[in-house]
Amino acid sequence: APAAGSPPSDSSKGVENLVIIGSGPAGYTAAIYAARANLKPVVFEGYQAGGVPGGQLMTTTEVENFPGFPEGITGPDLMDRMRKQAERWGAELHQEDVEFVNVKTSPFVIRSSDREVKSHTVIIATGATAKRLRLPREDEFWSRGVSACAICDGASPLFRGQVLAVVGGGDTATEEAIYLTKYARHVHLLVRKNQLRASKAMQDRVLNNPNITVHFNTEAVDVVSNKKGQMSGVQLKRVDTGEESVLEVKGLFYGIGHTPNSQILRGQIELDSTGYILVKEGSAKTSVDGVFAAGDVQDREWRQAITAAGSGCIAALSVERYLVSND
Ligand code: FAD
Repeated sequence: APAAGSPPSDSSKGVENLVIIGSGPAGYTAAIYAARANLKPVVFEGYQAGGVPGGQLMTTTEVENFPGFPEGITGPDLMDRMRKQAERWGAELHQEDVEFVNVKTSPFVIRSSDREVKSHTVIIATGATAKRLRLPREDEFWSRGVSACAICDGASPLFRGQVLAVVGGGDTATEEAIYLTKYARHVHLLVRKNQLRASKAMQDRVLNNPNITVHFNTEAVDVVSNKKGQMSGVQLKRVDTGEESVLEVKGLFYGIGHTPNSQILRGQIELDSTGYILVKEGSAKTSVDGVFAAGDVQDREWRQAITAAGSGCIAALSVERYLVSND
């Protein structure tokens, strides 16, 4: 049963209608829709292990592509607004990580460090984490030159007309490199191996693009700054010869993939080989009835705030429909 001081928001049997795990755009949008439908959703916002309340956008400055904010809005401000909107309609928010889920029982069981909740439905909106290289000065220049999202940051004044570098040799990195050529003066692609892993079509596009230089057998080892403390380059190392050099660039983009935060569901619902939750095409339905997924944890392709919010909406409406049909 829930811990003292945190009574279940719903029925006499103590079984909630809906638990939402995650508090990025997907989780809060699902919470807004479900709360407005009077489902009294319980939201676990995450605290430490899974990230911070508010999700990935808490680590960025300006968000320029979320509709409704023509002047742009900071990531934390946008997430604070979504949170308040969910709260206003009666979502019950807990700043706790979910540590254990059992969706093999009915009702489902969801446990955090502070409470255990039973629920008829669950929406998983735990997001994904962009992989980082963990360079010694990476945190210092995060969002000030180092980024994990070309679509989000490529057009920013910081990078427009500049020489930039992208790390990685797969589809993500090659797509990022091509995307960045729209804004950058030149793009360097840093590839650790002696070949690209990307599809043949993407390889051809990169190798034939005069605005992209591919550096094979090359890894980035640190960020370099000028006297004003601004990012001015990347320290490189040849993996075959060990030779070091500095490449002058104003930005470094990681295209080395994402890790979906689906660990708590492993073995209970269907995931793809890299851990993304599999949903039935065009829906939020997972392989378990009553368990829905939204946002980056089920989206290996688009990974945007607006697509996450949209899928959170679909998940909440699906829950509403599911509860009615199972009444
Ligand atoms: P997330 O935002 O990843 O949120 C997941 C949430 O789940 C987090 O709150 C986390 O704490 C929580 N969680 C995880 N595990 C648990 C657990 N076990 N228990 C409880 N909670 C848990 N997109 C844009 O559209 N425009 C941009 O300008 C933009 N800029 C970006 C800049 C950066 C630096 C990054 C990293 C991403 C950016 N994106 C941008 C992408 C965008 O942030 C994501 O697509 C979006 O946040 C995904 O939303 P989500 O709700 O699926 O998950």
